[in-house]
Amino acid sequence: MLEGDRSRCMPILDCHTHFFPEGLFQAIWRWFDEYGWNIRYKIPAEEVVTQLQSIGVQRMVLLNYAHKPGMSLALNQWTYAFAKKHPEILPFGTLHPHDDKPLSILHQCFHEFGFYGIKLHAHVLGIAIDDPVFFPIYEKIEEEGKVLTLHAGTGPSLKGYSKKTTHVAGAHRVSILLKRFPRLKLIIPHLGADEYEAFFDLMEEHPHLWMDTTMTFADYFPRPPLERISKLADRLLYGSDTPNIPYELGIEIRNIQKWLPHDIQEKIFWTNAHRLFEITEVKGHRVSCERQSGSLPDNKGQ
Ligand SMILES: [Zn+2]
Repeated sequence: MLEGDRSRCMPILDCHTHFFPEGLFQAIWRWFDEYGWNIRYKIPAEEVVTQLQSIGVQRMVLLNYAHKPGMSLALNQWTYAFAKKHPEILPFGTLHPHDDKPLSILHQCFHEFGFYGIKLHAHVLGIAIDDPVFFPIYEKIEEEGKVLTLHAGTGPSLKGYSKKTTHVAGAHRVSILLKRFPRLKLIIPHLGADEYEAFFDLMEEHPHLWMDTTMTFADYFPRPPLERISKLADRLLYGSDTPNIPYELGIEIRNIQKWLPHDIQEKIFWTNAHRLFEITEVKGHRVSCERQSGSLPDNKGQ
């Protein structure tokens, strides 16, 4: 049962969800089975949408990523087609820095597909995020005023990655790129785990640095520093990592509702993302609280 008022309207925009074509999902799940954790929701993309809606998520940011050159174009096309069928989705594109003409991929993402931003995953790419190969990419995203979700914290460090996560990610590397691209709208997932404090320090310095809460309210990662969350709550976003999580989907929402005051919950669940993505309503129909189920199940999952 939810803490507090069951019927309270608390719309949720999930800033971190993954949707892949079926074959790629299967490959990712096999990889996680071997190197990561046991994914609880091995469900196809269509069901990810309904699963999220069943716990009150009204809008969701679609993130995917390329692990090798040459696959981004098809992946972005798939994202575009999928998001067209689902107006509640805010699509992000991806690329590999060694793709043929990465800047033209960005151009297509923003000007043909209308994507809100780009997702890159340092651990999966195995390239340090402060490597100059990324600089023209960061520059273009900054210039376009789009958002970059960059998995650049060192956690979780899984055995299957080609490089040690400390060799490709970390707060000191993010600090380098923020100095070089100070207007880049950057989201760091997992509140910067394993370096919560260092990333909150960076947020104090850099007004365009945001973080999402993904996997940090599930007692799966170490508990995040709630005082710093309260202080920097205007640039924090709820994210779930659905469907690639090992625990029940509603846990994090319930813990945020338990551990943080109501005004901060509203910012993290809803209003901050609207400010960042400059959105007011869902294409074609107004966002309203009626679409929310009203309460979360305590333990509804697979
Ligand atoms: Zn993720």
